[in-house]
This record gives sequence, structure tokens and C-alpha cells, in this order.
Amino acid sequence: MADKTLIIIGAGIGGLSAGCYAQMNGYRSQVFEMHTLPGGVCTGWKRKGYTFDGCMHHLVGCDPKSRIHRMWRELGVMPRPVHFPDDLIGIENTEGQRFILYTDLDRLENHMRELAPADGKVIGEFVDAARKFTRFSMMDMLLAKPWEMVGVLPYLGLLSKWGKLKLEEMGGQFSNLFLRRAISMIQYDFENMPAMMALMFLSGCATRNFGWPAGGSLAFARSIAERYTALDGEIHYRAKVDKILVENDRAVGVRLADGTEHRADTVISNADGRTTIFDMLQGRYTTELIRTYYANPPQQQEMALHVSFGVARDFSIEPHTLVLWLPEPVEIAGRTCDRLDIEFFNFAPEMSPPGKTAMQVVMTTSYDYWKALSPEDYRAEKARVAETLSACLERRFPGFAAQVEVTDVATPLTTGRFTGSFMGYQAWGVPNQSMLDALTGKGLSKTLPGLSNFYMVGQWAGGLGLPNVAAMGRKAIAGLCKQDGRQFVAEGK
Ligand SMILES: Cc1cc2nc3c(=O)[nH]c(=O)nc-3n(C[C@H](O)[C@H](O)[C@H](O)COP(=O)(O)OP(=O)(O)OC[C@H]3O[C@@H](n4cnc5c(N)ncnc54)[C@H](O)[C@@H]3O)c2cc1C
Repeated sequence: MADKTLIIIGAGIGGLSAGCYAQMNGYRSQVFEMHTLPGGVCTGWKRKGYTFDGCMHHLVGCDPKSRIHRMWRELGVMPRPVHFPDDLIGIENTEGQRFILYTDLDRLENHMRELAPADGKVIGEFVDAARKFTRFSMMDMLLAKPWEMVGVLPYLGLLSKWGKLKLEEMGGQFSNLFLRRAISMIQYDFENMPAMMALMFLSGCATRNFGWPAGGSLAFARSIAERYTALDGEIHYRAKVDKILVENDRAVGVRLADGTEHRADTVISNADGRTTIFDMLQGRYTTELIRTYYANPPQQQEMALHVSFGVARDFSIEPHTLVLWLPEPVEIAGRTCDRLDIEFFNFAPEMSPPGKTAMQVVMTTSYDYWKALSPEDYRAEKARVAETLSACLERRFPGFAAQVEVTDVATPLTTGRFTGSFMGYQAWGVPNQSMLDALTGKGLSKTLPGLSNFYMVGQWAGGLGLPNVAAMGRKAIAGLCKQDGRQFVAEGK
């Protein structure tokens, strides 16, 4: 039994997590990763003394009492210093008026009442709901034992009320015109967000269960990779898997791009779902729903364009995330934008030289737009996007353009190049189906019909967010242990 072997394709957080728990449970595992770094989309990059983060806005599980925190300890990412910005987000209109979602709920309530004295009732309801959400962490249910799930029962009414209400609808309850519009932007400025999501984030920040681990996404991923190798796991970088070897409908190993073959008792793919199912396995193990899912990628992808600036200026007085409404709309990569989603990383001084700021504008974009450009036009368009944004920021923060020391533009093509993700993105919903259906149905699945000894973990198996994909790696190994008749063990550092 001690000799049971496992191959994991991809050193994303889901793959690394599966690897760590495999090693803790006596499997001999190895990870094949196409890139030179661990982490997949959980990444960051250095430019001239600045670190630009490509992923993490909030890590759930920073509260040492939470179940997720225990998993992070097992995976070697906790304890570590964590930053807790004072705000969830700020919204600024063209007159310079600001609505800041402070993570201190009393301060938030006072601020909202000052901004909109006539809206006391709806403000009271909203902040009270945030206070109630502080008593309960939905994310902790990820690792709850079946009998611990009863912990959710007292909160079902709350979840149902705020789960049904969209932020846009909640905004409609305000008479204050600024808040009427601004409320819809408080959860990553995404459309159609249930108010519950914003309340969960706000309460998570208020209780310091949501934080930002020092060093950011890449440092976080590296810690799990180090934990894996300390547990005697082997990671092979620059090792792109082209094919999953199958014999009698059983996965038996992988073939790499260099032609070498590696065999194991079980194969787990953490790689992009379309590549895994349709290239590595040549589409032999699918369902109608899987085919429909992958045939319908979204035209526009949220947070897929990252324009980063290293600026010789201190922006620490700004909210750490700011939705800035523009006096006139601008065109960015074929889209008309009337506001910018800006992140200032002053709350994490390790991300920039002293007194300076790593900042970024994160935007929705179309993969097809970038893909259609010739290499020359692609470079020119990246430069044009950076210039347009720099001009917008100059208008709001005079002197900005001259203070920029480094600019970096990462498109969905960049993500695709480094992570092999189909169209450079994360899992998506399906037309005529809710994201929940895709996640709970077989569109995104942990196994494939007719193929044994094969599992998927991570975003392409239905995991949304870092705790989820890591928990999936944990559960995949717990499932293997059960199948092999052994007690699952999880050791903390
Ligand atoms: C912009 C952005 C912001 C986010 N913000 C947050 C946040 O604030 N909080 C949060 O919890 N989550 C956040 N997420 C989500 C979270 O980052 C992802 O859910 C998670 O990192 C996905 O991990 P994964 O294990 O599924 O693998 P992925 O990151 O998709 O990794 C897959 C790995 O497989 C490798 N691979 C692919 N093909 C091959 C091949 N053929 N051979 C070998 N290796 C291969 C890739 O290189 C990669 O390393 C964010 C994501 C993005 C993109």
C-alpha cells in the first residue's frame, strides 16, 4: 500500500493540495507542471522592485479559529503575517464624493448615515445583516463534517433573504442617488451579485477571517510547494503533459511534451478542463453537458486584463480598492468603460519600494479581441491601453504619469501562455444554466464517465476560489484513502 503511486498534472493550488495530502497519507506522488513556478493563476510577478499580484484579493481562513485556517496550516501557508485593509472597497463619483465600505461596521454605519441621512432604514438593515453574518462563516462549511452542517440552520433565513436580493435591487431601495448606483459596485463591481456575497465579504473582513497574506499570491503558492517537497513530494517544472495514458478505460500515466512516459496507479488532473478532457483524453470520456459547457466560453471575462503600475508616490490614504467613475467614458481594448477598478497595494508594503506604490487596474476583457491581433498590433494595443489608463489616472491624481516607474499589461493570452488555461481564464457559467448547475451538475466534474483511476481537482472540477480548490485536493485524497481502506490523516505544521 505504501507504494501506491499518484501523478498530478498541474501545480495549481488544487494540485499542490492533493499532492501534500497524498504525501501525508503514504502515497508516492509527483506533480508535472508546465510552467517554471507553482501556483497556476494564483501568481504574481516582479518588475523593477515592484511586485504585481495577479490573483488574490481576499484569502478566507485567516482567523486561527476557522476550519479553513486549519487546512492552511496543514498546507504550510499559515501561520504567516496577514494584512487586513480598513476597507472592503471604495466608490468615488465624478464630483469626488466617496462611499467607503469600512470593515469596521460601526464606522461603516456612521459613514453611510452621514452620506445618506434619509436612508437610515435600509442602512440599518444592511449593517445589521453584516453584523449577523459575522457570527457565521459559510466558507467554513466546506470542511464541516456532515453533522456539523447543522450549524447553518439558524442562518437559513438570513441566507435566503440576502441571497435572493441582488445588489442592484438593494441599491434601488436608497433615495440617495449616489448610493443608489454605488451599492451595485461593492462586490468586485460584478453585475448581478447577490447582496449576500457582499455581506459575507464584509463580515469576513470585519472578523478578520478574510485577509491578505503577506507577499501575496505567489508567496502563498510557493509555501504550499515547499510544504509538498518537505513531505518528499516531487515537482517537475517545465513538464507539460500532452496525453493521459489509458489502458482498458483506466488512467495509468501521462506522456509529456518531451515524449517521456510516466506511470502511476492514479492520475489527478488539476490542469485546464478543456485541455484535459478534449486534448489529453481526446474527448473519449464526456457527456452532453460537458460538451455543452466547453462549447460555450464567455465572450467577456471578468478580471482578465491586469494593467499594473509601479509609481513613485504614496497612495496609502486611498481605499485599498477604488471604483473610480470617469468624467467621460474611455475605450479599453474594444470596450467602453465608464469607471476603473483600481487596487492600491500600500496596505502591503512588501509589494513596493518604501514610499512607492504597486497598483493595478483590473478589467473585464475579451480573449477573442486580443487573440485576433497580430503580434505587432498586440504589443501596440497593450501600450495603448496602458497610456489610456495612465491618462485617466493623471486626471484624477495629477502628476501620476510622470511618477510611473514601471508599467505592465497582462492579457488573457498572458494567462493562457503561463497556465495553459483555455482562453486564459477561469471556469464560467453556461448559457441557459446557472453557474450553480454547472458546478453541481456534470459540466464541471471531479470524475469522467467510463474512466477509472482518474480524478480532477480545482477550478475545472467545480472549485471556486482558493479555499475551495485546496479543499478539493484534500477531499480527493480522503476519497482515495477510503477506497484503499486507510484512515485519512492530515498533519499541521
Ligand atoms: C484575477 C483572479 C482573482 C482571484 N481572486 C481570488 C481571491 O481573491 N480569493 C480566492 O480565494 N480566489 C481567487 N481567485 C480564484 C483562485 O485563484 C482560483 O480558483 C485558483 O487559484 C484555481 O486553482 P486551481 O488549482 O484550480 O488551478 P489553476 O490555477 O488553474 O492551475 C492549473 C495548473 O495546471 C498547470 N497546467 C495546465 N496545463 C498543464 C499541462 N498540460 N501540463 C502540466 N501542467 C499544466 C498550469 O500551469 C497551472 O499551474 C482569483 C482568480 C483570478 C484569476
